Amino acid sequence: MTRSVYLDYNATAPLRAEARAAVVDALMETGNPSSVHRFGQAARRRVEDARDAVAALAGVAPAQVIFTSGATEANNTVLAPGNTRRILASAIEHDSVLAAVDAERVPVTPAGVVDLDALDAMLAASTRPALVAVMAANNETGVIQPVAEAAAVAHRHGAVLHCDAVQLAGKAPLDFARLGADSLSLSAHKLGGPQAVGALVVRDGLEVPRLLRGGGQERRRRAGTENVAGIAGFGAAARAALAGLRAYGALAALRDGLERRIAAACPDAMVFGQAAPRIANTSCIVMPGVAAETQLMGFDLAGIAVSAGAACSSGKVAASHVLQAMGADTAAANGAVRVSLGWDTGPDDVDRFVEAWLALYRRAAKRGGTIAAA
Ligand code: PMP
Repeated sequence: MTRSVYLDYNATAPLRAEARAAVVDALMETGNPSSVHRFGQAARRRVEDARDAVAALAGVAPAQVIFTSGATEANNTVLAPGNTRRILASAIEHDSVLAAVDAERVPVTPAGVVDLDALDAMLAASTRPALVAVMAANNETGVIQPVAEAAAVAHRHGAVLHCDAVQLAGKAPLDFARLGADSLSLSAHKLGGPQAVGALVVRDGLEVPRLLRGGGQERRRRAGTENVAGIAGFGAAARAALAGLRAYGALAALRDGLERRIAAACPDAMVFGQAAPRIANTSCIVMPGVAAETQLMGFDLAGIAVSAGAACSSGKVAASHVLQAMGADTAAANGAVRVSLGWDTGPDDVDRFVEAWLALYRRAAKRGGTIAAA
C-alpha cells in the first residue's frame, strides 16, 4: 500500500501537534470559564490565552475577538437576515456568506479578482447604507482579493466591509488595520486547529447582530458556554501558524513547479486564477476533456486527496459558482481540480501528484482519442 498524499489543505488541514496537545490538556480538566472558583479560572485562562494568540494572528486587540463555532457562524452573524443595510457580496464568496442573506453580487474579473469599478458603481447607485462582503483569498482558486482597496471604496460610500479571511490566515500576513475591514472571519481547522471553532473579529465600536442569545459570554456578543478545548486548540494553532508564516511562502515554489511540469506536458492544462496574485499553496487546474469527478476517483485510487470545486459542496459535484463568476466555459470548469498544499507537503508529494495527473491524462487521451497524447 502506497503512502497517502494529502493535498486538500483548503478543505481542512491536519491538526498541528501543538493544537492536539492543547485540546487534550483542556479536555482533561473540568471547568466552566464563567465559574468563579479555581476550576473556572483555569478554563478562563485557557480561553484568554487563546484569544491573545488569535488576536496576534489577525493583528488586533484581544477584546476584538469573538469565538464562534467556525467561520460559517462568524459569516452568518455579520450577514444575518434582518440587517437594515443593503448587502453586497463578491460573486466568489463562500456559501456561508452567499447563503446567509440575499446579497447583490459584485462581479469578478476573468482572473478571479473582485471588480472594484463595479463595486464603486453599485454603491454609487443608492444612498442607503450598505454592507459589503469581500473575502481575503478565494478557497477554490487561491486568488488574493484587493480587500484594502474594496474597503476604501466601501468607506467612501459610507458602507462597512466584512472580510472572510479564512483562506488567507496562516498563509500570508494578516493585518486587520491594513486590510481596512470592519469585521473579519477566521476558522481554526484551515490553519491546523480543530474543526468547528472559529472567530469573528470586529473593529472597536462596530455593532454586530447577536446570532445566539442566552448567557453573557464573549462580552455579551455570543451566548453559550465556550468550546474551551476547541478554543485552546485554535490558539495553539494560531501561534504555530504565525511562527511558520515565513516558511509558508516557500510552498509557492512547489506549487509553481507542479504547474510548470503539467503545462510542459499538456499546454492546454489551464490554471484558474494564475494571472492574479495567489496564496502560496493553491492551484486550480483543468485537465482538458476529463471530468473533475473522474479525476477525483483516479487520484483517490492513486492515494492522492484533492477536491473538485469547493470541498464543502463536494459529494454533490455541481458547477462551481466561483469559476462561473470568472466566466469560465462549462467544459473547463467541469474539468477543474483544486490542489492545496500545506506545511507537511514535500517535493515527493508533488512528484506523486504530477505523475498521477499525467497518467490519468494519458489514459483518458488513449480512451477518448480526442485529447492529444502528452
Ligand atoms: N469561508 C471560506 C473561504 C472557507 O473556505 C470555509 C471552509 N470551507 C468557510 C468559510 C467555512 O468555515 P467553517 O468550516 O469554519 O465553517
